Amino acid sequence: MKYVGAHVSASGGVENAPLNAQEIGARAFALFTKNQRQWRAKPLSEKSILAFRENLDGSGISPRHVLPHDSYLINLGHPETEGLEKSRAAFLDEMQRCEQLGLSLLNFHPGATLRKIGEEESLQRVADSINLVLEQTRGVTAVIENTAGQGSTLGYRFEHLAAIIDAIKDKSRVGVCLDTCHTFVAGYDLRTGEACDKTFAEFDQVVGFQYLRGMHLNDSKPDLGARVDRHHSLGQGKLGWEVFRYIMHDARFDDIPLVLETIDDTLWKEEIAALYAI
Ligand SMILES: [Zn+2]
Ligand SMILES: [Zn+2]
Repeated sequence: MKYVGAHVSASGGVENAPLNAQEIGARAFALFTKNQRQWRAKPLSEKSILAFRENLDGSGISPRHVLPHDSYLINLGHPETEGLEKSRAAFLDEMQRCEQLGLSLLNFHPGATLRKIGEEESLQRVADSINLVLEQTRGVTAVIENTAGQGSTLGYRFEHLAAIIDAIKDKSRVGVCLDTCHTFVAGYDLRTGEACDKTFAEFDQVVGFQYLRGMHLNDSKPDLGARVDRHHSLGQGKLGWEVFRYIMHDARFDDIPLVLETIDDTLWKEEIAALYAI
């Protein structure tokens, strides 16, 4: 069974996200549990938490198929102490918000070296950050997203994801999310069935499908290996439909949230329907 949805708006309160997901025929969704461009946020109110749980229940979407995304400001591999500590505190807050909402996943980008330390050292800091936060929380899995490799960001090689996982103490609470656009612009081809076979076999060998907790389904504006993060609507970018057909017909992608982050939200309802019909 496939669970497709989109990264829906939580504007006006997190409790609106399940309603927005329901409206587009989603069986899964992503959301920000706070403003993603600010460090500080008011704690979730009891009222908001209860309404979220109620609306989620009413939507028929399982909490297991909700994939919250953390703030873009957080850098768990930060080269400097101040930035690292600020990021770790913010990440802990994000994990606690997920706990409060009864959710079991938190999706995040691993971090960036800012070209001040090496990738290996920065990846170790990411793992240390995750270990610290997992020790202080319960029931929420840290879901590392692969990245486009833009600027000095980490996570554009499957080996980066594997290195982080390798250093996590509680492996039952770490997973990964593959973004089709990021995978492709990072240099892994997905344009044909054979290319998908090869790329996902490499992923399985280096990371392992047992760690796959979610997917972001996006077409790509830039070409293979461009290392630039620009999503496109399904079928309108350099990827085309084949990879999405492949994913929808492959059991390795069953039972996890498959989330659209495509650029035109007025198309989401159509895109979701097209994926189920493909
Ligand atoms: Zn993504
Ligand atoms: Zn992206």
